[in-house]
Amino acid sequence: MWKNVRVAVLLLVLVIVAGRAWLDRVQTQSWKNTVWVGIFPLNGDGSPVAERYLAALSQDDFASIETFFEHEAHRFGVPLDQPIHIELYPEGKQLPPELEQGAGVLGVAWWSLKLRWFAAHAEKVPGRTPPRIRIFVLYHDPTSLPTVPDSHGMQKGLMGVVHVFAVKEMAGSNNIVIAHELMHTFGATDKYDFGNGAPLYPVGFADRDQKPLYPQSSAEIMAGRRAISPTASEMPASLRAVVVGAGTADEIRWTHH
Ligand SMILES: [Zn+2]
Repeated sequence: MWKNVRVAVLLLVLVIVAGRAWLDRVQTQSWKNTVWVGIFPLNGDGSPVAERYLAALSQDDFASIETFFEHEAHRFGVPLDQPIHIELYPEGKQLPPELEQGAGVLGVAWWSLKLRWFAAHAEKVPGRTPPRIRIFVLYHDPTSLPTVPDSHGMQKGLMGVVHVFAVKEMAGSNNIVIAHELMHTFGATDKYDFGNGAPLYPVGFADRDQKPLYPQSSAEIMAGRRAISPTASEMPASLRAVVVGAGTADEIRWTHH
């Protein structure tokens, strides 16, 4: 008897989670209403450098992400005036759970559950409406580590964890990373070679028909880098040199109008 009850409860939970994921996807891919995206800044290493950077952050620092989505969506014929609205939330005190290096499928699943739990609490800011999508941005002092940990954006759970350096000159490229992870939450997939980071041809190229093909003048958002030659690529300085390619537009349903 109790065993049946336990199985029934578990099945019910699974059905609710699956139904919720389906609903989230339908709602965030309809492009009928502006989707609210919350940026939750965090001090990634507890350093004074990151603290000073966080204290100076304002909503304006993320405006280029809104403009990027607006410009690119309109290029694909999406009629919505403003596809996303970015809302900056106050600095959080608790860091999201960390994903272990080399975590397997189960490890990642467990981490994403813990992250959902974390996000559900972190989004509760007194006097503020919780956003539809939660992006946790962890700022690091560049002198404390040579490269930042990998960033992640997830469609299931509508959340992302982004690691960036607390450097004013990198604000433009930091917004590329945030926009990339945000695109993942809308259902876009990566378009670069996981081995060497190079953009994949043709899906990861901004202009697959450009003549000559190299150097590409812009980067595709899910490749994150523009190819300079068959063997070299670089990250642009800002979203002004980034586009949404046809493959990505299709995945996030910008082409179904
Ligand atoms: Zn990615």
